[in-house]
Amino acid sequence: MTTVIPYGRQDISEADIQAVVEVLRSDFLTQGPAVPAFERTLADYCGAQHAVAVNSATSALHIACLALGVGKGDVVWTTPITFVASANCALYCGASVDFVDIDPHTYNMSLERLAEKLAQAEHAGKLPKVVIPVHLCGQPCDMAGIHALSQRYGFKIIEDASHAIGGKYRGEPIGNCRYSDITVFSFHPVKIITTAEGGMAMTNSAALAKRMQLLRSHGITRDVNDMTHAPDGPWYYQQIDLGFNYRMTDLQAALGLSQMQRLDEFVTRRHAIARRYDQLLADLPVVIPWQHADGYSGLHLYVIRLKLGEIVKTHRQVFEALRAAGVGVNLHYIPVPCQPYYEGLGFKAGYCPEGERYYAEAISLPMYPGMTEKQQKDVLSALTEAVR
Ligand SMILES: *Cc1c(COP(=O)(O)O)cnc(C)c1O
Repeated sequence: MTTVIPYGRQDISEADIQAVVEVLRSDFLTQGPAVPAFERTLADYCGAQHAVAVNSATSALHIACLALGVGKGDVVWTTPITFVASANCALYCGASVDFVDIDPHTYNMSLERLAEKLAQAEHAGKLPKVVIPVHLCGQPCDMAGIHALSQRYGFKIIEDASHAIGGKYRGEPIGNCRYSDITVFSFHPVKIITTAEGGMAMTNSAALAKRMQLLRSHGITRDVNDMTHAPDGPWYYQQIDLGFNYRMTDLQAALGLSQMQRLDEFVTRRHAIARRYDQLLADLPVVIPWQHADGYSGLHLYVIRLKLGEIVKTHRQVFEALRAAGVGVNLHYIPVPCQPYYEGLGFKAGYCPEGERYYAEAISLPMYPGMTEKQQKDVLSALTEAVR
């Protein structure tokens, strides 16, 4: 039986385990000191003024949309090549979603398609309220370009940086929100650092941070200044909005804080693995990831595209051959508008042709800090065999 090389995997140290155990022995399992400490550490690392920790990136996207006022009658745009959560967040708010096709080189939302679609939408009187670019595989989107369009057309920006913590755009950390209103990170175990489940919303706006803090905890405030009248007594709190329980626990925050100490090491290691893949795959009929000079990718994923014109097998056959050889390949992502739920909303195959071409050729190779040289060689052998 071959052991499977997973496509992604967390890296948990003895120090990470000790950090969680310490919280278990402390007075607070949740709503203690670890969450604000993790938030401060991330804000400082990214150079953002505020960080709001929540129980997932999905929750962060939801309250980010709400904080920006997304509601019924509004439209939110994102990319078709992303995890469904980047689009679902708008639907949670009663808004509708639309998709901007991808760039054929970076696989991120195309700036040209965005500019075209905005010109058409302005004409039709249906401009988006929020645009959610996704830094696919960790490679930053053209944020300066998207920001310039936001100034012209008046939309807000949420960066879905679930793949991109530890990366940089034009020399500055992703998450500093220089070109956006809010940036969201995910700490799911396959991502770059983990809290098991968890997410964070970064912003430089005190008002947006305050609103997201309210929404993550039932819409309840204990701040007298936000109450409609003086407290009835020392027990008093007020619910002033309809919020959720989206809080991160102290156990998760302690794990995240501990993982932050190795974030740069993780990303450096991912770059070394990617460079090695680039060399190993040079002679195979595949397109290796192209990196824009403006970005330093977090390299959450290493996605190749098959040159199907030079391969006898189909995309699916290559994928299945790799899985059969114990290589835990994956496909990021099925275009969101092709999901049955979105087809139910009126989207059809052919809506995002560039994204669909990508989907027909893409394969995510295993990529995680603990991956060995031997495992990379095994991936190469399996791939060489699979495309023969
Ligand atoms: C993982 C992921 C999410 C959702 O993150 P969770 O923390 O699992 O909710 C959202 N967007 C993208 C692009 C992701 O990869």
